[in-house]
Amino acid sequence: MNADLLVVGSGFFGLTIAERAANELGLNVVVIDRRPHIGGNAFSEAEPETGIEVHRYGAHLFHTSNERVWEYVNRFTSFTGYVHRVYTRHDGEVFPMPINLGTINQFFRAAYGPEEARALIREQAGELAGTDPQNLNDKGIQLIGRPLYEAFIKHYTAKQWQTDPKDLPASVIARLPVRYTYDNRYFNDTHEGLPVDGYTAWLERMADNPRIEVRLDTDFFAGDHDFASKNVLGRLPIVYTGPVDRYFDYAEGALSWRTLDFEEEVLPVGDFQGTSVMNYPDEDVPFTRIHEFRHFHPERDYPTDKTVIMREFSRFAEPGDEPYYPVNTAEDRERLLAYRDLAHGERNVLFGGRLGTYKYLDMHMAIGSALSMFDNKIAPALRAGAS
Ligand code: UDP
Repeated sequence: MNADLLVVGSGFFGLTIAERAANELGLNVVVIDRRPHIGGNAFSEAEPETGIEVHRYGAHLFHTSNERVWEYVNRFTSFTGYVHRVYTRHDGEVFPMPINLGTINQFFRAAYGPEEARALIREQAGELAGTDPQNLNDKGIQLIGRPLYEAFIKHYTAKQWQTDPKDLPASVIARLPVRYTYDNRYFNDTHEGLPVDGYTAWLERMADNPRIEVRLDTDFFAGDHDFASKNVLGRLPIVYTGPVDRYFDYAEGALSWRTLDFEEEVLPVGDFQGTSVMNYPDEDVPFTRIHEFRHFHPERDYPTDKTVIMREFSRFAEPGDEPYYPVNTAEDRERLLAYRDLAHGERNVLFGGRLGTYKYLDMHMAIGSALSMFDNKIAPALRAGAS
């Protein structure tokens, strides 16, 4: 193999490293991926019956406030003007998410202005008002008061995490804004949109360079190649974006993950729910949300008599399941520290991405952290090695 760099995993992190190494440093890069397709969990493809683009591993919405990342991603794709908005169906009624003045007024059958609503929520937060709680339960109540918390957050979170919200970090919910305006944009970022030609075209353009070879269906650990042994000899630098515990053969124990199951259906109607994502925060519904993919691309010429929906279910990952969300228990955090020590001691291998760092990274974060790793670690090392 005539490679200067091996990248394990063809998700956004791995492809950003490969693209930079090939285009900026003129290196030959081999990218391997265990799956039969490029792109990790950002992979999408046309559903065969309808041609509607389906995000195979759950809806991916691109958004960033990082100008460098925005400039970088625009080299490979342009973005539509899609703005993500989510609705939630509670007790036979549909409310806008994230919680905003519209949600509050609809829920309390009121016409509060921003200050009245703030005063009401403060009152409903009770003794938690003005504190800085560290767990999700208390943080949720502090942010939106008990009635809204119980309607929209409590059971959704229970379904999503199967963990007592008192044992979950406040940061999980801190992702969701609460607004005392009628603005119901899901994300606060400066830039937002979906890739005009879809995620897979974008990912393929990142790898479109004669110096980059992508080998699919190739498992780093399978042993039918010499990648690992080359590294033992210290000849081939590796950027590894697979699960960090797997790399070390679970020596410190397995890190726990949540996985998702998706139930996809093609329905003989032009529009099922009128929007891309509907959350189901009630206890008696087993799924957390329904995605309807046509609404991510209203600009496309999709069939008007069929639609594709996907119900999303969440559970603890068993061995062999796809990892999605790090659970991050106290035990996980301890194990992660041990793996980080092992990773630091590993010669010629850098660990990155969501699986390699055990961090829930949005796409723009994965790309941003790959750009930093390239600048700070890879470019200096490889330039030194080449001279
Ligand atoms: N959440 C909730 N109700 C909702 C939406 C989100 O309780 O209708 C909570 C839940 O705990 C979830 C967290 O907020 O894990 C973050 O939600 P987000 O939509 O950012 O999660 P993602 O889309 O990344 O799964």
